[in-house]
Amino acid sequence: MDEYTPFLDALSALLGCEGVLNDPADHERYVQDWAGDRLGMPLAVARPRSTEQVAETVKLCREHGVRMVPQGGHTGLVRGAMPDPEHAELVISLERMDRIRRIDPLNFSIAVDAGCILENVKRAAEAEDCYFPLSLGAQGSCQIGGNIATNAGGLNVLRYGMMRQLVMGLEVVLPDGRIWDGMRALHKDNRGYSLAQLFIGSEGTLGIVTGAVLKLSPRPEKSQTALLAVPSVKAAMQLYALARRQCSDLLSAFELIPRECIELALKAAPQLSDPLDAAYPHYVLLDLAATGPVDLGEMIEALLTRGMEDGLVLDGVLATSMSQSQRLWQFRESMLEGQQQRGEHLRTDISVPISALADFAEAATQAVGTHSPDATIIAYGHVGDGNLHFNVLPPATLAKEETTNLLHDIELLLFDVVDRFGGSISAEHGIGRVKQAAYLARTSDVERELLAGLKQLFDPDQLMGMGRILVDPSAS
Ligand SMILES: Cc1cc2nc3c(=O)[nH]c(=O)nc-3n(C[C@H](O)[C@H](O)[C@H](O)COP(=O)(O)OP(=O)(O)OC[C@H]3O[C@@H](n4cnc5c(N)ncnc54)[C@H](O)[C@@H]3O)c2cc1C
Repeated sequence: MDEYTPFLDALSALLGCEGVLNDPADHERYVQDWAGDRLGMPLAVARPRSTEQVAETVKLCREHGVRMVPQGGHTGLVRGAMPDPEHAELVISLERMDRIRRIDPLNFSIAVDAGCILENVKRAAEAEDCYFPLSLGAQGSCQIGGNIATNAGGLNVLRYGMMRQLVMGLEVVLPDGRIWDGMRALHKDNRGYSLAQLFIGSEGTLGIVTGAVLKLSPRPEKSQTALLAVPSVKAAMQLYALARRQCSDLLSAFELIPRECIELALKAAPQLSDPLDAAYPHYVLLDLAATGPVDLGEMIEALLTRGMEDGLVLDGVLATSMSQSQRLWQFRESMLEGQQQRGEHLRTDISVPISALADFAEAATQAVGTHSPDATIIAYGHVGDGNLHFNVLPPATLAKEETTNLLHDIELLLFDVVDRFGGSISAEHGIGRVKQAAYLARTSDVERELLAGLKQLFDPDQLMGMGRILVDPSAS
């Protein structure tokens, strides 16, 4: 019997044998994220079925002084949901809490358990002729609770906003086991501080989200997808401004894809073929979507004509069917797989003001190129939000340790460029464990005091999501 046996026995009595995984052989899928990153092994995995069970689990942790980390679909990219390698931590997985609680098409809202997979929520909305706009590559695995905890962004932010703009109400189990019921379905509610907003983006450090009311939109009846070749990032950004103005603000996605990413996608997905007859330095993948009597075809043709006249578009393909549109979007998905296949590389997630993005890309390319001429830069992303994944693949010839050191150095110099442009080192993935040092180095004393005060207020025993975002005070 070790020091945790009484705790684990009490947990099993609370949740039953299906609700607790004690055997390390069953922990494999809870310690690894999409990138294959893994840190420590959990003390155990708790799989509560209801908000009350989450609350009782948390109370038990508090009673026994056991640390805990909430976990969704473990697709996060900053190792927030990975168990701590230094301390025994209970993983609290929301995977068995996946009920659609209520959908109200007239109110354009849906109430769900936090363990619902994003794709299932989108489907449930569509069944009622509504639309939940959050769309990202991991939507078949990530959960609404994880999306809320990371304030996820994705492809449609420029039109619909991030998770912060899509949450109407929340239900949260606090680190002391109390339940805060804020499941409000109000489009306007101006009563005092917004507690819900505090939990959004808090990465499991202030409480466990167990339920949410989400804002829906009318389901777009029609859409148009185009993949356009552009001569430069600057031209892409000018095209973005043109598209927003010329298309009645119906632009819902605008992605920058450099040629290197097309090559990665072609390698990762051999069924794809080069989208255009010639190769171009940059491409833009864009979507227009609408309901009602709007002729999107005419709109996109006009955009293309004007873009060509202005020298912003060199060539392009318009999808004429849903399957063709999906095929164009496959480039966006497959290029991520292509990157994964290249092994260790620098993944960043920065943002700058939209108006500064082209100049930033140029300055960052120059800085990285000067430091490491053999590295391959692949800068792509949701540029309609000023968000760029300025990623770097190391030269294939480098040994493991040299690669890690090189990527670290490149990240430092890249973040300096971000600072110069008044940008953010984390536009959507969050801080977790990976960006903590860079984040804290960029916060003022006042900011750090307020953040530490909040953490102390919500989690005085310092047991939940420790070492994510803020430094764990017990770390040496
Ligand atoms: C292929 C791919 C594409 C991606 N594209 C995007 C993108 O376009 N935009 C974007 O923003 N992100 C993107 N991501 C990152 C990731 O999908 C999101 O961060 C997602 O929101 C994480 O959800 P999850 O359920 O997997 O959370 P997890 O990875 O399980 O957890 C993430 C963090 O949230 C906390 N957490 C999880 N559930 C809860 C809960 N119920 N209550 C409190 N805290 C909780 C965890 O402790 C952890 O700190 C992508 C990831 C992949 C693999």
